[in-house]
Amino acid sequence: MRQNGNRIKNFVLDLVFPMKCIYCSLEGDWLCNKCLDLVKRDNYNLCPICEVENSNGAVCGFCRKNSNLDGLMVVLENSQLNQKIIHLVKYNFITELLNYIKPKIFSCINNNPNWRDYFVLVPVPLHRRRFLERGFNQSEIISNIIGEVKGNIINNQLLAKVKYHRHQVGLNAKQRKLNIVDSFAVNDRCLVDFNKTLVIVDDVYTTGSTMEECAKTLKEYGYQKVWGLVLIKG
Ligand SMILES: [Zn+2]
Ligand SMILES: [Zn+2]
Repeated sequence: MRQNGNRIKNFVLDLVFPMKCIYCSLEGDWLCNKCLDLVKRDNYNLCPICEVENSNGAVCGFCRKNSNLDGLMVVLENSQLNQKIIHLVKYNFITELLNYIKPKIFSCINNNPNWRDYFVLVPVPLHRRRFLERGFNQSEIISNIIGEVKGNIINNQLLAKVKYHRHQVGLNAKQRKLNIVDSFAVNDRCLVDFNKTLVIVDDVYTTGSTMEECAKTLKEYGYQKVWGLVLIKG
């Protein structure tokens, strides 16, 4: 009965809001096959701080003193389409789009020579208030998808967001850093083995202030190896 109800609801929704490709407006799907083909992986490994190319995205020797992060893995190229997908997930709540690009994410992770099954994924947490506003944490959804590839453990409790702050969008690098300082804390009831490599997962890396703040919090607590992973680097 319930299934029937859903089917009727979807049928009515389709009539009122026919599903259209977010990129070319072709009716029938959120992302048509032709546009899905345009979702490409990121082909560059750079030091995330100075952006000099290297073999694996590790923070280079020169930038080590300025960063708590050991390196950054980037899944998708910074294209207009990929930006649009993430925007629609975050602000229009079309989380289904992440399912469409799941095979792309899988192949990127499988082709990434850095990837190890013993990495523990730590999604960037949302403040409880922001979580209630949005209803989901996109970093958690992304972590769950990535974790599926090699069965990585996901710890969505290790980091907590203890300070509510305004959106980072529209702020410059210095303002972003100030806005997010002391925002995170380690939850000592959900610790992970200190020898594990933690991978902080987020949707976008722009100036790196969120990622750096998370890495700083984890390193100050005693974790030794902290990498980042994002879908795109702005
Ligand atoms: Zn399309
Ligand atoms: Zn560097």
